[in-house]
Amino acid sequence: MMKLINMNETAETNFVCDFCNKTFQREQSIFKHMCETKRRVSEKDNAGNRIAFQCWLTFYQKNTNARKPKTYLDFVKSAYYIAFIKFGNYCVDVNAINIARYLDWLLENKISVDSWTSDQVYNRYLIYYLREEDPLDAIARSIETTINLAEPDNIKAGDYLRYGSKNRICYKITLGKISPWMLFQSVSGIEFIESLDEGLQRMIFDYINPELWSIKFLRNKDSVKQVKDLLKQAGY
Ligand SMILES: [Zn+2]
Repeated sequence: MMKLINMNETAETNFVCDFCNKTFQREQSIFKHMCETKRRVSEKDNAGNRIAFQCWLTFYQKNTNARKPKTYLDFVKSAYYIAFIKFGNYCVDVNAINIARYLDWLLENKISVDSWTSDQVYNRYLIYYLREEDPLDAIARSIETTINLAEPDNIKAGDYLRYGSKNRICYKITLGKISPWMLFQSVSGIEFIESLDEGLQRMIFDYINPELWSIKFLRNKDSVKQVKDLLKQAGY
């Protein structure tokens, strides 16, 4: 008898939310239903969420011995979910350069999760990363940036440092989108730096610190030659 009643009950409430186990009598109700877990899962394909999940996986692998592969649902239920989503969205907002490397750097430097979305921290990383990255990656990104900047102004990309907006170029330098590799190893780059007023020079100083970069160039003569030739051929 008891069994029958139970069966009737299940028959009436046969729509169960997979995420919170809440039951519904009508399909329409479960369709409209939204709980925190369901909402989190529904946002999984957002750019920030994808970054967050990848970074969380890396973080998880580095900090635990667990072998079992983790799913998106594990991520959604983890205590770090919100922190990593904030981080992912931050990376999208600032168009962060080499996010995987940024995460490694944050972990190596034992920077607390609360500070992962601080502009100050990101800038510290960026200044470090610009000096460490492969010169050809730096040049590829810088050329791409000048192509995008030059297009609406009808200027040749190779001429952008000559005729483009100085403010816009300086801003891109502070975002790491135009590298000191381009600025110091091209004719137009050097002319550009020399033409800046004191305010703009101050704005970009930490990113292009000439003293530190000249030491780096001395130690990497082969790369310098390669980059110089490449930029010259491209008209920079
Ligand atoms: Zn639910």
